[in-house]
Amino acid sequence: MKIDIVSVFPEYFDVFGLSLMGKAQAKGLLEVKAHNLRDWTHDVHHSVDDTPVGGGAGMVMKPEVWAECLDELLGLNTPDVCAGGNGETDAVTPQSGPEPGWEPAETSSSMSQPATIPASDAPVLIFPNPSAPLFTQSDATELSHAGHLLFGCGRYEGYDARIPDYYRAQGIDVREYSIGDYVLNGGEVAVSVMVEAITRLMPGFMGNPDSIVEESYTGEGALLEHRQYTKPAVWRGLAVPEVLLSGDHGKVDRFRRDEALARTAEIRPDLIEALDCKALDKADRKT
Ligand code: SAM
Repeated sequence: MKIDIVSVFPEYFDVFGLSLMGKAQAKGLLEVKAHNLRDWTHDVHHSVDDTPVGGGAGMVMKPEVWAECLDELLGLNTPDVCAGGNGETDAVTPQSGPEPGWEPAETSSSMSQPATIPASDAPVLIFPNPSAPLFTQSDATELSHAGHLLFGCGRYEGYDARIPDYYRAQGIDVREYSIGDYVLNGGEVAVSVMVEAITRLMPGFMGNPDSIVEESYTGEGALLEHRQYTKPAVWRGLAVPEVLLSGDHGKVDRFRRDEALARTAEIRPDLIEALDCKALDKADRKT
């Protein structure tokens, strides 16, 4: 899988060189590149934002800069400048200058070894957005089969709404997702969350593939997972449930399943309501 991330803080994604993400890149399973949006600006301040049309607080990310960047990363032909699409000179204002700490003329920072990328796979363009539908495990599962994901991190009051509209109209698969009912400063953390949730589901990513089979939110009858314990059997006076020490796999499975159902009913009743009855067995119904 190839992942491109566009941000005004591409260094945010250096952490993807660590742990399982780092190993997946070293194995050639994944190629992650973070790009600095300011590399597609033409004005002296490398400005990526402008005041909101209609008034209001803050700044909005400009469509022209995003379009030059996305056209290039998506391999689309840039429309004629005279048609009003790109290349217009920025109206630079002092408050729309670069964020402190930004250095010009950075090259895109790659965090990977060369990988074998399925070149024919259609890209999916993803914008994190707090006012979009919630990103779920089933979105992560679907996107784990994509060949190319391109993420655009918003900042300030967000990005011009015409950017996703334009690329949808070009036939690109464009998604906008919220990662939760709260507002972050920018899309970088949201993209990190989505990338991690997606990539860990890729075949070959996990050392033990079974560890992603029985998890919270996973599968047809998606529940919260049962609680987990390790050794010792008694720690600071607290014992693990006796049935887990019984060696009876049937009883252990039933105990875990009952606990998963009970915890889900208590913490996330919405997941119980959404359950397909066919995903429940006779004993489940008693629980
Ligand atoms: N004005 C926007 C609003 O009220 O909905 C908030 C903009 S926020 C400060 C800047 C950027 O952070 C957004 O464009 C988005 O990319 C990202 N962001 C913030 N919260 C997010 C969330 N819960 N989920 C996904 N992205 C988020």
